[in-house]
Amino acid sequence: MTRNSQDPIRRTVFPASSSRAVASPIMPSVVYASDTPDALDDQYEGRAKGYTYSREGHPNAEALARRIDAMEGTQGGLVVSSGMAAVSAMVFGLLASGDHVVAGNQLYGRSLRMLADQLPRLGIESTLADPTDAAAMEAAITDRTKLILVETVSNPTLRIADMKAIVALARKHGILLAVDNTFTTPLAYKALEQGADIVIHSITKLLAGHSDAMLGYVCARDPALQGAMIDTAVTLGLTPSPFDCWLAERGLFTFELRYQRACENARALADCLADLPGVAQVLYPGRADHPDHARAMALFGGQGGNMVSFALTGGREAANRLVAAAPDLPFAPTLGDVATTLSHPPSSSHRALSAERREALGITEGFFRVSVGIEDADQLCQELSQAVAATTD
Ligand SMILES: *Cc1c(COP(=O)(O)O)cnc(C)c1O
Repeated sequence: MTRNSQDPIRRTVFPASSSRAVASPIMPSVVYASDTPDALDDQYEGRAKGYTYSREGHPNAEALARRIDAMEGTQGGLVVSSGMAAVSAMVFGLLASGDHVVAGNQLYGRSLRMLADQLPRLGIESTLADPTDAAAMEAAITDRTKLILVETVSNPTLRIADMKAIVALARKHGILLAVDNTFTTPLAYKALEQGADIVIHSITKLLAGHSDAMLGYVCARDPALQGAMIDTAVTLGLTPSPFDCWLAERGLFTFELRYQRACENARALADCLADLPGVAQVLYPGRADHPDHARAMALFGGQGGNMVSFALTGGREAANRLVAAAPDLPFAPTLGDVATTLSHPPSSSHRALSAERREALGITEGFFRVSVGIEDADQLCQELSQAVAATTD
């Protein structure tokens, strides 16, 4: 086959337009060509702005990062390939052999596995403590503690960390405080403004909101720490896909509307569930009967969030019946989608725990966590009520 000389490889001229595109373009290019070696020097040495190789950064990641920076009230945050990549950028970028971590005892499962399985091989130890109890957190601190890692809201029992006291004790002991803000989002809690040193997000969940993009975000207040995390992320290859960044940017345009609606729905669903025969307990931080209600209201500007947990009076048999009777509510182990999803921690996120440990956390075989979406609230209440009724037949 002969090549048409009119159509040489890589000589495409992108059509010019005197008008501007309204939607953000997607830039899949991995490499960028520079005009001269001097021009490349200018770029590497910071005199000119530009991209070279997309593992080191690309426009879609940057556009998304600036948007989340603005929401968190910060600058210079980094978007990476998943929430766990954000946790990785932090621990591998900031910790060294001999360091110790104090972490919440109900962190996201993979974050717990990072602490238990990955870091000890590098000589980094950790101690878990209950973040609703600042004295317990403080008691876990040693003279080697470099980092405290907490989530604002625990999963799946939705307990609220004593953030004010934890910020104070991190200050007092000169320890970095990292907050995984995935459950609360910057609309309910701005971690850096409240005194944390580092904020982390799984963008995959509420921020992107459509279960079709996997990304994470990490930002340290101190530019030197942020620089160390960026270097580590580029070296480890934690780069996000431009297409995922583009989807997440688009998702963020409606984030505030989605979040408000999901929080209103969650409140309505929690109240609806609380009145049903067959439901032993409802956990929603926005309800006065939640153990940390006052703390949640004070920390999160009156937002109860979009997550509701409840326990059926029946055990596993009732749990199976509930899922079978709610075929339109995806039984899927994630959160933050536009649609309401159901998860059953004893058979998914918390299956690795012993039955005794689950019992101690209050996670019975009839325990469900609902990530509430943006559907019609009455319809949601009706669907779930029907499903709960099927467990008591
Ligand atoms: C999902 C989640 C993560 C991990 O995020 P991925 O994008 O799935 O890697 C971390 N922390 C919390 C609280 C999460 O819910």
